[in-house]
Amino acid sequence: MSLWLLGTSGAVPDPRRDYVSLVVEDAGCLILIEAGGSPFHRLGRMGLDPMRLEGVFLSHRHPDHLSGLPVLLMGLWLQRRARPLWIAGPEDTLERARALLELFEWRSWNGMFPVNWRPIPLEPGAVVETTGGIRLITAPVSHSVPTLAIRIELLEGVAVYSADTEPCPELIRLARGADVLIHEATGSYPGHTPPERAGWVANPCCEFYTPRACCWRRINATAVRRTRQASPRKVLAR
Ligand SMILES: [Zn+2]
Repeated sequence: MSLWLLGTSGAVPDPRRDYVSLVVEDAGCLILIEAGGSPFHRLGRMGLDPMRLEGVFLSHRHPDHLSGLPVLLMGLWLQRRARPLWIAGPEDTLERARALLELFEWRSWNGMFPVNWRPIPLEPGAVVETTGGIRLITAPVSHSVPTLAIRIELLEGVAVYSADTEPCPELIRLARGADVLIHEATGSYPGHTPPERAGWVANPCCEFYTPRACCWRRINATAVRRTRQASPRKVLAR
């Protein structure tokens, strides 16, 4: 089992990084977390075959987290995928994703594979069903729209992805005991977290963490230093 970061950018475009997304590999299957940017291309660059995707988890309905979904599904369709794909997330996020696909008349795509929609309740401990040995547990976090963070439990360890959020007790509880916390570090804005506060969240929770997604290069240059000052845990990447 493995976990990759395909992109780490916040909503403000960054020429060096795609929008945030992660992929988890388990027993030959891939689970994509977030579908902003160009996930099909990013998977290919990582040497991962997008046709192995089992499902997609979307944390919330903002465009930088789901706008790549139509081209992802179109790419799979053009490569003649036949088996179903599940898409999970908050109910309003799935509604937005369906509306986006309707714009491209996806129901008329000849031979389109089935999509199973899996709404996840906005309550701590809700589970995303998967077919493999991986366990996905969610918790609502504090953002401007309904948003779910996700805990990824693998045989080799546990990773937690914050999605977009202010520091909040639900996330601290979800991340407790994790090996890695992938936390947003967009800055001091409502519904977001500055780097030093991400370190504050990580301290009681986990051994390592990586601050994801600072929006501007100027902030990126200082993000790792600020997080290291705030947290004695090892910062893996920016
Ligand atoms: Zn957002």
